[in-house]
Amino acid sequence: MKTLSTEILVIGGGAAGLSAAAEAASAGAKVMVIESDLHLGGQLVKQTHKFFGSKDEYAGTRGFKIAEILLNEIESCKDNVEIHENTTVTGFYSEDKTFTAMRGEESFFHIQAQKTIVATGAQERLIPFVNNDLPGVYGAGAVQTLMNVYGVIPGKRVLMVGAGNIGLIVSYQLMQAGVEVAAIVEAAPRIGGYWVHAAKVRRMGVPILLGHSIKRAVGDRTITGAYITGLNEKFEPVGEETFVDCDVICIAVGLSPTTEILSQAGCKMMYVPQLCGLVARRDMSMKTSNPDFFTAGDASGIEEASAAMVEGRIAGLSAASSLGYLTEHGKLDEYWSRLQSLRSGEAGARICQGIECVLVNGWEDGRNG
Ligand SMILES: Cc1cc2nc3c(=O)[nH]c(=O)nc-3n(C[C@H](O)[C@H](O)[C@H](O)COP(=O)(O)OP(=O)(O)OC[C@H]3O[C@@H](n4cnc5c(N)ncnc54)[C@H](O)[C@@H]3O)c2cc1C
Repeated sequence: MKTLSTEILVIGGGAAGLSAAAEAASAGAKVMVIESDLHLGGQLVKQTHKFFGSKDEYAGTRGFKIAEILLNEIESCKDNVEIHENTTVTGFYSEDKTFTAMRGEESFFHIQAQKTIVATGAQERLIPFVNNDLPGVYGAGAVQTLMNVYGVIPGKRVLMVGAGNIGLIVSYQLMQAGVEVAAIVEAAPRIGGYWVHAAKVRRMGVPILLGHSIKRAVGDRTITGAYITGLNEKFEPVGEETFVDCDVICIAVGLSPTTEILSQAGCKMMYVPQLCGLVARRDMSMKTSNPDFFTAGDASGIEEASAAMVEGRIAGLSAASSLGYLTEHGKLDEYWSRLQSLRSGEAGARICQGIECVLVNGWEDGRNG
C-alpha cells in the first residue's frame, strides 16, 4: 500500500486546521491537510450570518467569507501545502506510527508524519425519542449543509429542538429560505444562545418554548408531526402532550468534540463538561501528552470559530517550531492574549473553567503524570 509522508499532518480543513496549516507552512514547514469533505472550510462554509468575536478574527464577516480568507492565505503558501479533499483519516496505529486514510470509497493509503495537528471539529448530539429514525429527522448541521451548501430546503414546516446559538441561527436561516418554523422547544429553563439571535426569531413570530422537549415523532414513512411536552426541574415530562404539525424535526442539542484519533495516539484524555466532552489534555502550545500530537478548534473543546482559528495558529506555530523552523518571537504570547480576550465575556467564563481543568503547565516538568 502507498505511504505518503509529510512533516506536519493536519487532520481536518476547517477554521482550526486551515489556520494551523497556514501558520506552519508560512514558517517553512511542509504541511499535508486531509479533509473528509469534498471541499475545505468545515463549518464555516455553511454559515451565512456575520460572526461575532474580535476584529483580528474577522468579526462582522460572514462565515463562508472567513473560509475564503483562510483559503487565500493557504494559496499564498501553496508550495508548502499539500491538500487532500474527499479523504478521511480512518485511524492511527501507534506500533508503526502510521495513519490509515481513504480517498472516496476506493483508494486506501498510509500516512506518516513527524507532527500531527488534530483539528477534526465536532459531532452533533442526538436525543432519544420515539420514531427518531424516521426520514425528516435531521441534525442542524445536515439542514445547514442541505440549504446553504446545496440550495435544497429540507421541508415546509420545521420543529426545532434546542434554543442554543445553532438552533436559533438555523431557525432564522430556514425562514430566510422560505421554510416555516412551527416552534423551538428548549429543555432548559433559559435560552442558551445569544439574545440577539433569539430576538430575531421571536420578532418573526416563532414561539420559543422553554422547559419543553419532543416526546415522539409521528409518521409512517416520513414525518407528519410531533408531540411535545413540558418538563419539570428534573427534566421529566409533565402535563399534556401537544401536537405540532411539521414535516421536519431539526435537532440542535449541542456538539461533542471529535477526538478518536487523539485517543488512538494515546493522548491523555479528560471529560470536561464545560468543553462539551472528552478532550485531550494540552499545554499552552496545544501539545498533548503525546509530543507528536497537537489539538485545536472544536476537537479541543466546543467554542467558536474565532477561538478555533487562534488555537489552530498556536498549534501550527508550535508544531513548526518543534521541527526547528524559526517562528516569530512573541507570536505565541500574542495569540494567547487574543484567546484570553475572546474568552473574556460571560460565555467565556465557562470555557476558561474548562481550560483550567485540561491545561498542563508544560509536559516536561513532571507535574502532570
Ligand atoms: C449554526 C452555527 C453557527 C455558528 N456561528 C458562529 C459564530 O457566529 N461565530 C463563531 O465564531 N463561531 C460560530 N460557529 C462555530 C464555528 O463554526 C466552529 O466553532 C468552528 O467552525 C470550528 O472549527 P473547527 O476547524 O474546529 O471545526 P470544523 O469547522 O468542524 O472543521 C473540522 C473539519 O474536520 C473534518 N474532519 C473530521 N474528521 C476527519 C477525519 N477523520 N479525516 C479528515 N477530515 C476530518 C471535517 O469534515 C471538518 O471539515 C457556529 C457554528 C454553527 C454550527
